[in-house]
Amino acid sequence: MGSFEFISKHGDHEEVIFCYDKNVGLKAIIAIHNTALGPALGGTRMWNYKTEDEALTDVLRLSRGMTYKAAAAGLNLGGGKAVIIGDPKKDKTEGLFRAFGQFVNSLNGRYITAEDVGTGVQDMEYIFMESQWVTGIPKEFGGSGDPSPYTAHGVLMGIKASAQEKFGNDSLKGRRIAVQGLGNVGSNLVNYLVVEGAEVLIADIDQDKVKKMATTHKLTTLSSDEILFADVDILAPCAMGAVVNDDSIRKIKAKIICGGANNQLAEARHGDQLRELGILYAPDYVVNAGGLMNVFVELEGYSADRAFEKTRRVYDNVSKVFEISRRDKIGTHLAADRLAEERIKTVSGLRSRHAGKSNRTFTTLKEVNNR
Ligand code: NAD
Repeated sequence: MGSFEFISKHGDHEEVIFCYDKNVGLKAIIAIHNTALGPALGGTRMWNYKTEDEALTDVLRLSRGMTYKAAAAGLNLGGGKAVIIGDPKKDKTEGLFRAFGQFVNSLNGRYITAEDVGTGVQDMEYIFMESQWVTGIPKEFGGSGDPSPYTAHGVLMGIKASAQEKFGNDSLKGRRIAVQGLGNVGSNLVNYLVVEGAEVLIADIDQDKVKKMATTHKLTTLSSDEILFADVDILAPCAMGAVVNDDSIRKIKAKIICGGANNQLAEARHGDQLRELGILYAPDYVVNAGGLMNVFVELEGYSADRAFEKTRRVYDNVSKVFEISRRDKIGTHLAADRLAEERIKTVSGLRSRHAGKSNRTFTTLKEVNNR
């Protein structure tokens, strides 16, 4: 299959750029999926892809996902992503990232990059030496730092919106909430939930994290398998993806699933199945958009207060998803996509209006008569 056919099979991308620099061994692909709402933003992933097709498939899929995430978040951002082919443990050099930075720069802000799997702050600093179109740079350079507290606050907002939908009340006081994963997002979320007065149950494969959190807040601990099937009001997956799958779905007792982890549904059909089972699923990419909101604020000139304020919007966004799900009688995972598509369609369809003239080039009728 030719490259164009391959690309068109994976979605309606605007532009795909192959970046090659023999001297530093750079092989990278930047995919710009859609810029109807604004510049395409998405991280750079470095991965030891076995084939170029595998790398191309990944970048096309991930950039499309970013379009939907930004659109559903209500941000004026489009979707893009980049992949660098190579082993992040062995192949990283200053030259590699600076050469990549030059490619990013050549797009003049149509694509803005950030950290992703396999890349970190140091790599972003090298890109920043060649281009201003990078986010997630250190705070000293005006960056926004760790996005996790913002992601976690957005998740809290998603949980409250879900409680409102399911129970008719968004107070979390006394609600039993199971949090799977106590990493950057999960630990911040637990802190917020405790303040809300929820009864929190926790699990992580790292027992040190469990012990620390349980001691700080006196919480019930479960094994990482048990936590998925705990008898709770809300399950908040904050570890890995595909937690809702053929094996787990019938054993889940929670009435709501709302957490920070990416790709919680193993397959889209599991979203339909959750709907049939009466379990309310708050779609992951709408719920965990707080980190992206934080980065967006970095582009405007960073303010932590403004970023925090922005994450409150997750409540409204998740509520809109539930509304569309009820309106169109579809699963919430499909309703989230529809929310994003409707926003892109509305903004793309705005008729450009005359902006007025800055200086007049004609005289008044009175002036003409006086000549
Ligand atoms: P992290 O690596 O800091 O934390 C993940 C935690 O999950 C770790 O403590 C790990 O020990 C634990 N874990 C792994 N497998 C587990 C299992 N089977 N059972 C229980 N615990 C397990 O990652 P993070 O930054 O907190 O991100 C968590 C999830 O949220 C990921 O899916 C990530 O893609 C997603 N996410 C994060 C952000 C962010 O701002 N950090 C933004 C959007 C989405």
